[in-house]
Amino acid sequence: MSETTRHDDRPEPADRPEPADRPGPADRTEQDWRSILSPEEYHVLREAGTERPFTGEYWNTETEGVYTCRACGAELFRSETKFDAHCGWPSFYAPLAEDRVRYIKDTTLGMERVEVRCAACDSHMGHVFGGEGFPTPTDLRYCINSVSVRLVPASS
Ligand SMILES: [Zn+2]
Repeated sequence: MSETTRHDDRPEPADRPEPADRPGPADRTEQDWRSILSPEEYHVLREAGTERPFTGEYWNTETEGVYTCRACGAELFRSETKFDAHCGWPSFYAPLAEDRVRYIKDTTLGMERVEVRCAACDSHMGHVFGGEGFPTPTDLRYCINSVSVRLVPASS
């Protein structure tokens, strides 16, 4: 018997969300994710880990562009909604569109928080906090791990 070669002919993440009838990132197994992501990315995206503050790639980035899910490429946040919350993580006051993210009640660490996940692939992004008094249109702070996203700079 010849050795079976594992062949993944799924399309690469595209700009548009994939139709529901085609296998996409949501169908990947945890084993698939381990082979796609670095250990740090896997820990944060798939195990809801948190990167240390002030260590991520984007916590103080002001470059214009779109922040995409590092796991599946879905467009999640725009630089226009990013603000400086001095918290050590990239902070946004709104997602690119409400249907790009999903919210899950998180009661770990003895706190009641709202986890934010990518709606397309269910990967962990961070948490959203409200009522902190930031002078933004929503008074919400989407506190997102740098390692969960990838900035695609706006083309000039
Ligand atoms: Zn995703």
